[in-house]
Amino acid sequence: MGAINVGRYMQLLLAKRRELADVRAEGVNPVPGAGGPAGDVMDQATADTDALIHIRLRQTDGRLLRAIDEALARIRQGTYGVCSSCGQFISKARLDAVPWTRLCRGCKERQQG
Ligand SMILES: [Zn+2]
Repeated sequence: MGAINVGRYMQLLLAKRRELADVRAEGVNPVPGAGGPAGDVMDQATADTDALIHIRLRQTDGRLLRAIDEALARIRQGTYGVCSSCGQFISKARLDAVPWTRLCRGCKERQQG
């Protein structure tokens, strides 16, 4: 039981964390508008939609970053892969799909229901 390769999940978490951190760094310096002097109304509408999507992405990223940091902390504490609600081992399939999860499938479903 619980014979999961923690090192592998740590690599997955660190890679995802780097990816998110890169996106955040880019957000600090907005990409200059692609529209030149010929930019028309359509360009502006597209830019507004893009900005909204970016804000929403960043909120999600913030939550995800925290979840990843918590998962890395659990790896250090040796409790990674254990459900924080019921204390049972989280299935390998679930960790493969969501490496930063802290709940087993059953507890997650109970929480949502
Ligand atoms: Zn559980």
